[in-house]
Amino acid sequence: MEAGFGEEHEMFRRSLRAFVEREIAPRVLEWEAASEVPRALFRRLGALGWLGLRLSPEHGGGGCDFRYTAVLVQELMRCGSIGVPVSILAHAEFATKVIDRGGSEELKAEFVRPAAAGERIGALGVTEPDAGSDVGALRTRAVRDGGDWVINGAKTFISNGSIADFVTTAVRTGGPGNAGLSLIVVPADAPGFARGRRLKKLGTHASDTAELSFQDCRVPARNLVGAEGGGFKLIMQGFEGERLVLALIACAQMRLMWEEARRYGRERQAFGRPLLGFQVWQHRLADALASVEAADALTERAIDLYVRSEPCNGPISMAKLFATETALDLARTCAQIFGGMGYMEECRMARLYRDSLALTIGAGTSEMMREIIARTSGLAGGEGNP
Ligand SMILES: Cc1cc2nc3c(=O)[nH]c(=O)nc-3n(C[C@H](O)[C@H](O)[C@H](O)COP(=O)(O)OP(=O)(O)OC[C@H]3O[C@@H](n4cnc5c(N)ncnc54)[C@H](O)[C@@H]3O)c2cc1C
Repeated sequence: MEAGFGEEHEMFRRSLRAFVEREIAPRVLEWEAASEVPRALFRRLGALGWLGLRLSPEHGGGGCDFRYTAVLVQELMRCGSIGVPVSILAHAEFATKVIDRGGSEELKAEFVRPAAAGERIGALGVTEPDAGSDVGALRTRAVRDGGDWVINGAKTFISNGSIADFVTTAVRTGGPGNAGLSLIVVPADAPGFARGRRLKKLGTHASDTAELSFQDCRVPARNLVGAEGGGFKLIMQGFEGERLVLALIACAQMRLMWEEARRYGRERQAFGRPLLGFQVWQHRLADALASVEAADALTERAIDLYVRSEPCNGPISMAKLFATETALDLARTCAQIFGGMGYMEECRMARLYRDSLALTIGAGTSEMMREIIARTSGLAGGEGNP
């Protein structure tokens, strides 16, 4: 049993592992070529109750703790494609959990229940062409008009953007800065909502990433999540879970890459012996394993604080920073042992290598993680400083 996980988590892990081996891993290349995870997978996971793990039981969720989400991420990663967990978690964790946390009962009934069932797919729309890390600078504006919000603006790099049935959208309803932000759920059939390009990416091919636009887009006033002006707080609360998901993806990816490198190092012969017969590779993979274990431990600590509702912004940022940056370094080492094969698209290691590039960017870049660590540790203005 993994540290911190109970017998019930492990039972869930066993079912999920069998499912991933049987129904996901064999089809991953097909989904990477199609640049999307099929709708049928969302329905299947929803029917099994695995999309609504953390959502309210009154709205079709499982009411489970975050460790179940951690198991979901770890086991989905065994399919070898980061795009698959990115797409599933962008829906279940990023787009839907925030509605479940802050939305009215009416809104939850309309969006959380079908999302948990996998009948409606969600996306989270925060990033804009002119504002990414600086969330407080975003410009998409929503103005009240009678019983509606009228939204104008654009979003980019949105996971599930092309396939989403609803987008949990960050908008400006007030003045400049963080206090002027709100979250509004925009159904994909709302008048004035349009999808732009499906973006071609270096990696994470199985997850679709798109541009979105809002031109006098009308949605009912009831689609506001929480209070007007409360969007920034909800986004930041959501980021905690999102960053843990990315840290978990990076940890699972490192473990996969390390195992692949060890297998190849045992099998591949050069100069009359296996590559792992050379001490240089034993040492490089020994260093790599120490890094994997360190990232796991840091992530486990952050999860532990998060599930106990302890202050965890700093620890989560450290886990995300360390795990994703280490995954990038380790990807290079592990791909190198494959020689030319590590550069071929047909090789799982090559795909893991290029997928790892997204992890230090999504859900807050490494620079933003360092900013948070600096603030929460008294290095810069914030807690602990005079
Ligand atoms: C695969 C993928 C999927 C994504 N999915 C989603 C999604 O579903 N929803 C969504 O809303 N967004 C999504 N994003 C967008 C992602 O969250 C942003 O790309 C990220 O937050 C960075 O914003 P930016 O790209 O605008 O970069 P910028 O904010 O313009 O930053 C550019 C560079 O400057 C650095 N920088 C910025 N400010 C500072 C500073 N103060 N100090 C030092 N360095 C700084 C950054 O760290 C970065 O290296 C996705 C991105 C990717 C790659």
